[in-house]
Amino acid sequence: MHELSLAQAIADTVAKHADGAPVERVTVRIGHFRQVVPDSLAFSFELLTEGGPLEACELAIEHVPAVIFCANCGSEARLDWPVFQCRACDSSDVKLVSGEEFLVVSIDLLEAPHGPVPPPR
Ligand SMILES: [Zn+2]
Repeated sequence: MHELSLAQAIADTVAKHADGAPVERVTVRIGHFRQVVPDSLAFSFELLTEGGPLEACELAIEHVPAVIFCANCGSEARLDWPVFQCRACDSSDVKLVSGEEFLVVSIDLLEAPHGPVPPPR
């Protein structure tokens, strides 16, 4: 399963960076063309981290739309599927601006050992 291996990659990255510290949230940015089902990824991540040090870690997913830029007329358009043609002028001289991202944006630790003291609740 595609999502399961991605979830594993995320969990590995988080575990490596957190180095045993409790993690509150990890934010990942995923491009449209990665064809990831967010719910499925969240479920896989939960499954993988259950009972482990990352059990309390929340997975936040930022979806990045696929955007192409046309070198012929300079217009930008969102793509819903990979058809690399400009919608404005039909030129195929286009390049992908976004949509292939898969990266861990941030890892929020539950308590930063040297960070600012949080306000009392
Ligand atoms: Zn164009």
